[in-house]
Amino acid sequence: MKTRLKQLCDSYQMKFMTDVPLDGHTTFHIGGNADYWIEINSVQGLGAALRFCQEQNLPYFVMGRGSNILASDNGYRGVILHIGTAFSAVAFSDQTTLVCQSGALLSNIAKTAAEQELSGMEALSGIPGTVGGALFMNAGAYQQEMKDIAVSCTYLDTDGAEHTLSREELDLSYRHSFFTEHPGCIVTSVTIKLQKDNPEAISARMQDYAERRRSKQPLNFPSAGSTFKRPEGSFASKLIDECGLKGYQIGDAQVSEKHAGFVINRSHATCEQVLRLCREVHDKVLAETGYVLELEPVLLGIQAGESSCS
Ligand SMILES: Cc1cc2nc3c(=O)[nH]c(=O)nc-3n(C[C@H](O)[C@H](O)[C@H](O)COP(=O)(O)OP(=O)(O)OC[C@H]3O[C@@H](n4cnc5c(N)ncnc54)[C@H](O)[C@@H]3O)c2cc1C
Repeated sequence: MKTRLKQLCDSYQMKFMTDVPLDGHTTFHIGGNADYWIEINSVQGLGAALRFCQEQNLPYFVMGRGSNILASDNGYRGVILHIGTAFSAVAFSDQTTLVCQSGALLSNIAKTAAEQELSGMEALSGIPGTVGGALFMNAGAYQQEMKDIAVSCTYLDTDGAEHTLSREELDLSYRHSFFTEHPGCIVTSVTIKLQKDNPEAISARMQDYAERRRSKQPLNFPSAGSTFKRPEGSFASKLIDECGLKGYQIGDAQVSEKHAGFVINRSHATCEQVLRLCREVHDKVLAETGYVLELEPVLLGIQAGESSCS
């Protein structure tokens, strides 16, 4: 398997690695080793890798920046298809429309947009992920979501065949998209539509959002951002705070003292500690408020039953 996968990667000039520690590739800094890792650099290379996985019955997982992932301490028995800087070009198709390869970081797209006096990315600019990962979950912040700017995308299905989705077909809503319903499909490009605006106003908004993040979020500790989705009718951080759980800790996993919506890794937290902490938070919030909290990060390599609060 290893030799054939390496040959395939060599023929598409894609970097191939084995036994890759996932704690070095997730913003939580948690996770054991993945068996195989491919650095995707083209649609053709991705298609070939997908077809190989299909033929060999080899599990695969697509990873962008790893900023919304909780990876198992036991790692992953399969291939990580990493869509990052090697697949991150951004081009204009007209004065206000950008076509972004799915590995482009939201921060870089926002910078390119601001340089061209285009507004629409300001609130998303501080989300530390790729545009593919952002489309997957319809990422959003400060009343702005991918839903507001994405007009179409291209993707490969599990057989490596390419398709296009319109804005409507993307089916974007709170932390939901076509892709959350079709987990094996992989976004290859996202087309976004922005509007011309005053450059000083764009820059001021970006600075304001960045300052709000710095003052409210525990950015000095590893995390995967918000740990729980927003329950209908309330906010996870408010409920957790009201239950007196701010600062509650299991091992090195802690409910942030700065923002109760974030579980942080204080130093060497394990996935098992994070899951145990989340389970306790889930149970206490349910018992005291009646709200059911659901995990927001995607679980990687975790067997069914290991996580009882997702
Ligand atoms: C400090 C911090 C702050 C954050 N703030 C926010 C916020 O304000 N709002 C918000 O919404 N999120 C926030 N997040 C979470 C995260 O940054 C976003 O969800 C981001 O969009 C994830 O992108 P990613 O490239 O890191 O995806 P990953 O974490 O690598 O992957 C997440 C999921 O997307 C899938 N995926 C990734 N790329 C693709 C692709 N090309 N095709 C198909 N599926 C794909 C993966 O398989 C996985 O299921 C924050 C995270 C951190 C650490």
